[in-house]
Amino acid sequence: MDLYEHQARQLFEDHGIVVPRAEVTDSPKEAREIARRLGGRAVVKAQVKTGGRGKAGGVKLAADPAEAELTARRILGMDIKGHTVGTVMLAEPIDVEAEFYVSYVLDRTAGGFLAIASAEGGMEIEEVAATRPEAVVRVPVDPAEGVTSAKAAEIARAAGLPQQSVDVLVRLWQVLVREDALLVEVNPLVRTRQGRIVALDGKVTLDDNAGFRQERWGAEEAQHHDDPLEAAAAALGLNYVKLDGEVGVIGNGAGLVMSTLDVVAGCGARPADFLDIGGGASARIMADGLSVILSDPAVKSVLVNVFGGITACDTVAEGIVRALDTVELTRPLVVRLDGNNAARGRAILDERAHPLVQQATTMDGAARRAARLARTA
Ligand code: GDP
Ligand code: MN
Repeated sequence: MDLYEHQARQLFEDHGIVVPRAEVTDSPKEAREIARRLGGRAVVKAQVKTGGRGKAGGVKLAADPAEAELTARRILGMDIKGHTVGTVMLAEPIDVEAEFYVSYVLDRTAGGFLAIASAEGGMEIEEVAATRPEAVVRVPVDPAEGVTSAKAAEIARAAGLPQQSVDVLVRLWQVLVREDALLVEVNPLVRTRQGRIVALDGKVTLDDNAGFRQERWGAEEAQHHDDPLEAAAAALGLNYVKLDGEVGVIGNGAGLVMSTLDVVAGCGARPADFLDIGGGASARIMADGLSVILSDPAVKSVLVNVFGGITACDTVAEGIVRALDTVELTRPLVVRLDGNNAARGRAILDERAHPLVQQATTMDGAARRAARLARTA
């Protein structure tokens, strides 16, 4: 789950990182009051879960409370990269002398974390990395050792960050560990003319799997899903992840579903989702799964790949048949049943003879057919 800047700012503050004084609102009138409380001038910042707000006109300096109100009115409701601005944060303006970049990010391949830092902050880091790769340093962080003062000093030295940022680097690591984050990023981390180090912007991605032990998240956040289809699936208790393709995928067992995604990709198509119905391939789960997948307009065909084990194929087939009674199948469905009671399962589907349902005997064959149907749809 990604946090809004103001939530990241709060976590930073809780861990002793200096951040600008700030308040959030969805009302231009209140923005004026907040600016007054901040001393008159304020930076008005769109709260959306995407970067590049500055470039898009979502970060503006207001010289006085009246201008803060006008600016808030202009920014609220604005569309930034497909995100509608619902709230703005008003922050005390900081006198910036230099801008840096720092982040810690989970490095799944290395099985550890990576500190990324640059003395050229402010711009999007991908841009700096593309044009001046030598200006961005990557330092592996052993998760068991973490970022000690010595490690922080090593990162700061490698990136050319000022000595005072060492303390921030240690605290930022504590944010990551204590808050169960997968990513913490500060861009820019700034040095003020008075020599203070301040986190001017913050991006934090929390590990959804840690929701059970993070009381402060609250039920709503712990259940949070950015994608509406994922939210609908979660409400139905389905193990569903939305992907960007056009072939809907349903399977039993995470491993089988993962390999099904690979096989679909190998056929030159893209999977539209990951949906593992587990051992409980009941009619209801099948119907719920199908309805979530079919409500994704990008889906052009659906592939059901089941290897019968404890849940036998005839049970799955009956589930599909009953699901067809409750869900209107609007796109072709390719079913591959194998394993326990496969022959009986196939016979049940043959008997139902739904015009949009086809069967295949192998996973490769089924994936090829679903990919072809998606292409020609
Ligand atoms: P982003 O564009 O979404 O990354 O939003 P940021 O919060 O990083 O703001 C964009 C840019 O505005 C920053 O990189 C800063 O250069 C600038 N900025 C934001 N707040 C202040 C401030 O208080 N003082 C100064 N001088 N610049 C600021
Ligand atoms: Mn930024």
